[in-house]
Amino acid sequence: MNKIFYEHLQEIIGTERCFLQENMGRHTTFGVGGPADYYVRPRRSDAAQVLSLCRTYGIPCLVIGNGSNLLVGDQGIRGLVMELGREAAQITVEGRVVKAQAGALLSAVARTAANYSLAGMEFASGIPGTIGGAVVMNAGAYGGEMKHIVRKAIVLTKDGDEIGLSKEELDLGYRHSCIPEQEYIVLEAELALEHGDPGKIQERMAELRRQRREKQPLEYGSAGSTFKRPEGYFAGKLIQDAGLRGYRVGDAQVSEKHCGFVINRGQATASDIIQLIRDVQEQVKAKFGVHLETEVRILGEF
Ligand SMILES: Cc1cc2nc3c(=O)[nH]c(=O)nc-3n(C[C@H](O)[C@H](O)[C@H](O)COP(=O)(O)OP(=O)(O)OC[C@H]3O[C@@H](n4cnc5c(N)ncnc54)[C@H](O)[C@@H]3O)c2cc1C
Repeated sequence: MNKIFYEHLQEIIGTERCFLQENMGRHTTFGVGGPADYYVRPRRSDAAQVLSLCRTYGIPCLVIGNGSNLLVGDQGIRGLVMELGREAAQITVEGRVVKAQAGALLSAVARTAANYSLAGMEFASGIPGTIGGAVVMNAGAYGGEMKHIVRKAIVLTKDGDEIGLSKEELDLGYRHSCIPEQEYIVLEAELALEHGDPGKIQERMAELRRQRREKQPLEYGSAGSTFKRPEGYFAGKLIQDAGLRGYRVGDAQVSEKHCGFVINRGQATASDIIQLIRDVQEQVKAKFGVHLETEVRILGEF
């Protein structure tokens, strides 16, 4: 531990927002992952200073949102993890535009939009991520995707400058944006929605929630769809047809309810999950000649 760095960090964002050796299993929906050397929860206004301090001390800095698309290794993460979550979650509405800080949960943004009779965000109401994570991943479901509603994002560059990026500059595609390759940090996003009927908006959100409960193994830890959809196929169907429904490595399992989900039945380790992912990739490749690319972001030391 670098004591001077940590003291400096505490001075900037407050001791109550800084943690040492923080177990990442508490911050990922898979419920696995070893300790991060440093874990911080800055407010939006403090993110630039945290980044700058990391650069000064040569400490690697990784940003996460709600940890709902992450597989973190059992040995954890060397360096600092910056959670842009509950401390950076303000939502404001101006006409048809919803401005949300990176840490705002999609469910909260969708609820706010519905309260203002704004339609277009319903598809995202059941995705358990933040606005920041959703822009990075161009999250999508039930025919909707962030690309359809994002108007602009405010990001921090690796030099610590705040810049605005248009939808085109974000280069949003299937589970893709320019954010990771440019090493940007999303601070805020503006969503352009449409006026709609409040009853219909609520109805649509309730219907999508029902569909999720029916089709997805929400009673277990997971990171949603483990693999991207390969061109011309469905990952879940390939996995099922390869005979892997319910396949287990330790407490990691291919969900019996939805083969596209790898679940943690309770005591899985990150090593179990990564082994299961590799086994599935290998068997699907051998049987169908298709490579399943992970949608889940794999981080840290295994
Ligand atoms: C039960 C379940 C259902 C799901 N259903 C869907 C679905 O229908 N559609 C879908 O698209 N996804 C789905 N997901 C996956 C996940 O919720 C989304 O990918 C979500 O957008 C991730 O947001 P997050 O805040 O949790 O990001 P995290 O998992 O914390 O991070 C994801 C990536 O974004 C980066 N990141 C996060 N925040 C920032 C930021 N502010 N600046 C820069 N980089 C950042 C991280 O470094 C990481 O690379 C599901 C997951 C679960 C567990």
